Amino acid sequence: MLYGKPVAEALDARTRAQVEELAVQGVAPTLAIIRVGEDPSDMTYERSVVKRAASLGMVTACYDLPELATTREVSTIIDDVNANPDIHGCLLFRPLPEHMDEGFLCDRLVPEKDVDGIGHKSLTGVFTGAHHGFPPATARACVELLDHYDIAIEGAHATVVGRSLVIGLPVAQLLLHRHATITQCHSRTADLARHMKAADIVICASGRARAYGADHFRDDRAQVVLDVGINFDAAGTLCGDVDLDAVEPQVRAITPVPRGIGSVTTSVILMHTAQAAARFSS
Ligand code: NAP
Repeated sequence: MLYGKPVAEALDARTRAQVEELAVQGVAPTLAIIRVGEDPSDMTYERSVVKRAASLGMVTACYDLPELATTREVSTIIDDVNANPDIHGCLLFRPLPEHMDEGFLCDRLVPEKDVDGIGHKSLTGVFTGAHHGFPPATARACVELLDHYDIAIEGAHATVVGRSLVIGLPVAQLLLHRHATITQCHSRTADLARHMKAADIVICASGRARAYGADHFRDDRAQVVLDVGINFDAAGTLCGDVDLDAVEPQVRAITPVPRGIGSVTTSVILMHTAQAAARFSS
């Protein structure tokens, strides 16, 4: 079982060391968190980010706006964040309420502070291999998890199920930059199971509760499966895209949901924030 916690702890240790180096220069890496509305899961997540950042010696600045806030109000905050030299990274909770122009707001944030890779300029960096901005945190979390568990990427065949800009496309690009061979699947893919069975590494990011069972994987205990999905089944239980109980016995390794990739994502956001602070101060 590829648990996220040891990966998160290893990343946090690296981040803590970088924060200590920056403290010597008088720099305290600071993350702005912008939340619109009072979605309980967003509020819980915000508290956990604030707590984790504090445990690493980092600072957070929370901007909590009402559900009826306007695009202009959020845009003004993002402009302030962009202009403030003491803020190094920004996390904007999404999805934003429907009346807001989410694309405009994502692109408003400068890539140097876009620690979750939400803007087009940051994504351009992922696709061109240019080192401006940061990749989406969950995509980077997948790569960090594979590296942590010494799972070879170079030369591997990776099938990615999903092609969103949040996870499917960027994780495929990051793996491609690391010399994996990629098969990208989506809702119109014919014979999805064939593509999943052919891979050494399967990344499931389609948001379909327990949709991929024993029939979607080989039974030779050779495949590595990263389940990025965060879903709730009909009984309201949190689960991934993969039927963990059915698939775990027949693959080499698999990330559970919960306690898998999701727990690494926050560590990546904080790592990106410390890296952004280091770039600003160099
Ligand atoms: P999304 O924007 O809805 O994209 C879903 C992707 O899955 C689309 O590319 C879609 O294909 C594809 N898909 C849908 N049905 C499919 C099918 N039957 N067969 C094959 N592909 C199919 O969702 P997302 O933002 O990428 O998120 C995906 C999942 O990851 C969600 O469960 C989300 O909660 C989770 N997530 C987790 C984290 C984390 O920290 N662990 C972070 C982000 C997202 P089309 O393009 O053809 O529509």
